[in-house]
Amino acid sequence: TDFKSLGLSDDLLKAIADNGYSAPTPIQQKSIPLILDGRDLMGLAQTGTGKTAAFGLPLIETLLADPKKPQPKGTHALILAPTRELVNQIAKNLIGFLKTTPLRVTSVVGGVSINGQIKRLSKGTDILVATPGRLLDLVDRRAVDLGTASYLVLDEADQMLDLGFIHALRRIAGLVADDRQTLLFSATMPKQINELAQSYLRNPARVEV
Ligand code: AMP
Repeated sequence: TDFKSLGLSDDLLKAIADNGYSAPTPIQQKSIPLILDGRDLMGLAQTGTGKTAAFGLPLIETLLADPKKPQPKGTHALILAPTRELVNQIAKNLIGFLKTTPLRVTSVVGGVSINGQIKRLSKGTDILVATPGRLLDLVDRRAVDLGTASYLVLDEADQMLDLGFIHALRRIAGLVADDRQTLLFSATMPKQINELAQSYLRNPARVEV
């Protein structure tokens, strides 16, 4: 299987090749067609399997095919991850695919000044990558509007629960668009993750690697 057969456009295929990816990993092979089809997805995958591109590439493909005008303070996709390191890694990975596109990625994490983040978010963004706690601080300061987000990714969901983010996740899920596409990735599938999936995913496809 190559990336072309997964349904990605020529522009994105070029960006993928420019990043040195020659063939999709198993999680990418299984997830990308389902996500491009608009399905919600529950993915059981460890870090290092290529799951960032598995959810990132179809997201970028969709945004490029249907460019939306970024609303002030709004975002079209929201990606949540448990730690600063992971948020920064996801943002960096996505930026690698966006060099020749007008799409913008913004990342927000705790432990750094919130004022610069408020300023950056005031112009709106296409893809927002965030830790749940800092994101809610920004919501409470009315620095970000999640109502325009029609694509929600929960990455390393089991770790987010372990870190005590369950209430934050519930609040955030209530703020993003109802008719969104939701993708949940987790390295393990304890009961709590299944419950989370049942409340936030619609008829999800399940993939495992
Ligand atoms: P991830 O599991 O998303 O954190 O990815 C782990 C590492 O694998 C990152 O450095 C990615 O850039 C790299 N990677 C992901 N998919 C591919 C691929 N299809 N070909 C080569 N490298 C990849």
